[in-house]
Amino acid sequence: MRKKIVAGNWKMNMDLAEGLKFASSLNKYFSEKPSPKAMVILCTPFIHLAGVSEIVKHGKVALGAQNCASEASGAYTGEISAWMIRSTGAEYVIIGHSERRSYYNEDDRILNRKTIMAINSGLKVIFCCGESLSERESKNHFMIVRRQLEEGLFSLSEEQMDMVVIAYEPVWAIGTGLTATPEQAQEMHKYIRGLVKEKYGNECAKKLPVLYGGSCKPSNASEIFAGPDVDGGLIGGASLKKEDFTAIIEAL
Ligand code: PEP
Repeated sequence: MRKKIVAGNWKMNMDLAEGLKFASSLNKYFSEKPSPKAMVILCTPFIHLAGVSEIVKHGKVALGAQNCASEASGAYTGEISAWMIRSTGAEYVIIGHSERRSYYNEDDRILNRKTIMAINSGLKVIFCCGESLSERESKNHFMIVRRQLEEGLFSLSEEQMDMVVIAYEPVWAIGTGLTATPEQAQEMHKYIRGLVKEKYGNECAKKLPVLYGGSCKPSNASEIFAGPDVDGGLIGGASLKKEDFTAIIEAL
């Protein structure tokens, strides 16, 4: 059985005190649940990592960052390395989010370096892929996702793929209120699993979690998660509200 995962991407929200308070309240909520069926990951800003790590360390919630440097260490002012992230106790990092691709010009080559850095540092990678609206309208969405995976991810070995979760996030659905239909999500997830099968074989493809992201909320989560190749979600806006986030997890 594949892991079911819901990861919250806090993006650049909440100051330190607010973030720690929110993490404590989620941690308490999940600690009191008998046995959550889905793994919950909080992907916080860098400044929250060490503090949230202390809060969740005996609980059921895992911790991740939203980005890491493409270099291991040295004179890279303002950067945070994968190893530094790992040293906080975080276990995951999001790589290739569309906001990093578009606002910070992170291309497939850089994302591949970041992915390798993260895995070599012991972090699991939530690797994001997804097409823009014009790419979907011109029916190039499969080709775009294929390229993103081939260039960004497929240099990894089969063992390294055990450290990977893929998140399909159509750019036109992120923070816009537009959501892929359950059919569109399932179609792309199946395609992604097929690409992984082609490259790494059936065993690897069968156990790889593929998450959906893009305006996922309590009202649409169950429908989207019903797809047989949809193993959970990467949640932005709705991960900042406890009621919404927990309802999405319940839906899974
Ligand atoms: C995201 O940023 O990964 C995301 C899915 O955002 P939202 O849920 O707000 O669309």
